[in-house]
Amino acid sequence: MSLSKKMIIMIVILLWIAFLLTTFIYLPFHKNNTMTSNASEKTSQERIIELKEQPYVGENKAKVQIIEFGDYQCPYCKKFEEDILPKLQKDYVANGKVKFYFVNDVVLGSDSTLAGNASELIYHQYPKYFWDFHKELYAVQGEEKTGWVTNKLLLKVAEKTVPNLDKNRFLDGLTNKTFNKYVSSDNKLAQSLGITGTPSLLINGKKVNNPFDYKELQKDIESAK
Ligand code: CA
Repeated sequence: MSLSKKMIIMIVILLWIAFLLTTFIYLPFHKNNTMTSNASEKTSQERIIELKEQPYVGENKAKVQIIEFGDYQCPYCKKFEEDILPKLQKDYVANGKVKFYFVNDVVLGSDSTLAGNASELIYHQYPKYFWDFHKELYAVQGEEKTGWVTNKLLLKVAEKTVPNLDKNRFLDGLTNKTFNKYVSSDNKLAQSLGITGTPSLLINGKKVNNPFDYKELQKDIESAK
């Protein structure tokens, strides 16, 4: 075999090896890249959370969005309301950096649903006073599942926080469970986002490990995009 024939055979073999490498190594790698990019697109789409019907404090255009999922009977939600939320309001909501939402996540039974129903009623009929009602309801919280959530107590809280409250309309709303549908849709939202306990926080869609660790919250807020 002449030298030039040997070279041609060598070149053909090298080209064949290059073809095999491209087909079996490069292509799967490219495919993986495509999958990764689809996955990240999905993740960012999942972060679009429907919050149109939810109460919030803060500026509409705030860059960071925090969602609390809470239950009015849950003692840790009361603790969050009293120890952490005021700090967040002072440090981040007041200066327009954070927009803070509350969404019901009923985990402690029918009394919690009743309390959630009352809060939804106030939000839909007297939106200006929602946060006053919400705060006062946590302030009067009793031990969980001891029957402290009654129409009488909810009326007392509403009368204290909502000027010109229509007492009969309020009680009708509680009796007829008019606003339970909003509590149910809140619960479904929590479920769809994998929320398993209260209080739970999402900062721009990302779950916070410990809502009581203020330093972690600050870090998460600063790094949120
Ligand atoms: Ca709600």
